[in-house]
Amino acid sequence: MKLQKKIITNKNLREFNSLQIAVKAKYYIECKTDHDLEVAFQFIKKNKIKFLILGEGTNVVFTKHFEGLIIKNIFKNEKKIYKNNVKVSSGYNWDRFVSFCIKNSLYGLENLSGIPGTVGAGPIQNIGAYGEEISDYIEHIEVYNLKTGNLETLNNKNCNFDYRNSFFKKNKHLFIKNIFFKLKDKFIANNSYQDLQVYEFKNALQLRKKVLKIRSRKLENYLSKPNVGSFFKNPLIKRQDLKRLLSQDANLKFYNHNSLIKVSAAWLIERSNLKGLKFDNARVSTKHSLVLINEDKSPNSILKLKNKIKTVVLNKYDIRLEEEPTII
Ligand SMILES: Cc1cc2nc3c(=O)[nH]c(=O)nc-3n(C[C@H](O)[C@H](O)[C@H](O)COP(=O)(O)OP(=O)(O)OC[C@H]3O[C@@H](n4cnc5c(N)ncnc54)[C@H](O)[C@@H]3O)c2cc1C
Repeated sequence: MKLQKKIITNKNLREFNSLQIAVKAKYYIECKTDHDLEVAFQFIKKNKIKFLILGEGTNVVFTKHFEGLIIKNIFKNEKKIYKNNVKVSSGYNWDRFVSFCIKNSLYGLENLSGIPGTVGAGPIQNIGAYGEEISDYIEHIEVYNLKTGNLETLNNKNCNFDYRNSFFKKNKHLFIKNIFFKLKDKFIANNSYQDLQVYEFKNALQLRKKVLKIRSRKLENYLSKPNVGSFFKNPLIKRQDLKRLLSQDANLKFYNHNSLIKVSAAWLIERSNLKGLKFDNARVSTKHSLVLINEDKSPNSILKLKNKIKTVVLNKYDIRLEEEPTII
């Protein structure tokens, strides 16, 4: 196989995933221009190999060496404001982008301050926090189709955004290149979320600072305690199943979610006495029961721990927890 200069072989991915799992990628390319994407596309087409787009690796769990091409996104050529709209390249850091918007008097994203990762990964699982989701501010998205080599545009509706879900989860060949955000020119604080209700915010920067403070108190720093944020989604159950759960425990923590009920996964894990549980070199955070901390170079410990949690919760509540990060 003839390799382009830009493609590296046997790249260790340890520093490219926040769980610090030391797997290797057979092939690896950093994409910062259209030409780099074209090189990746031609390589995949010619060699018929699998591929994976990677941002900052804060929401992926590598379970083994990757026998294909890792396409690392470092696209950072555009950040332009048109009235209330911003066009931004996907390789920018998300939190820096939130700060940029606030500095330019464009509002809406402040509750999403402090979420790690790239702008381009935001739509994949429709990132959300403190009562906001990225999907409420996306106008349209430009993607590079790695199956055809074409550029395509998806409007907000085409993206099928839902709770920690989108069209992109099942269409992994679409490389998000640019996102067009539609933001607000007036700041209206969204303090509907429980932790924020007791505060009044005069401006977006105050709200951002409070969110960052709460996050640093409640969450583990992934640089010192390798993790991917919440490991499990809050399960969505049917209304008729709620009765059964409430009869089992009247203190069940749940919320309405359209016609369904969203149950707190953190609550299920805590009530199963799993908070703080250690398994080999992985443990459930004592600060936040949805956060699993990894201290292993191999994926074994974290996988055993998450499987243990799933089994205990299933046996106790008859609820199947679903992983939030992409398992590879
Ligand atoms: C400490 C911590 C706290 C967190 N808190 C939150 C939170 O509050 N809310 C929340 O929603 N998430 C949270 N997360 C999860 C994570 O920050 C987000 O999912 C983030 O968007 C991941 O960005 P990334 O660049 O690291 O993506 P990666 O982990 O690199 O990739 C994630 C997925 O997106 C795909 N992908 C990445 N970039 C692109 C692209 N350009 N085009 C197409 N596909 C792409 C990848 O193939 C992969 O499937 C947290 C994570 C950590 C470690």
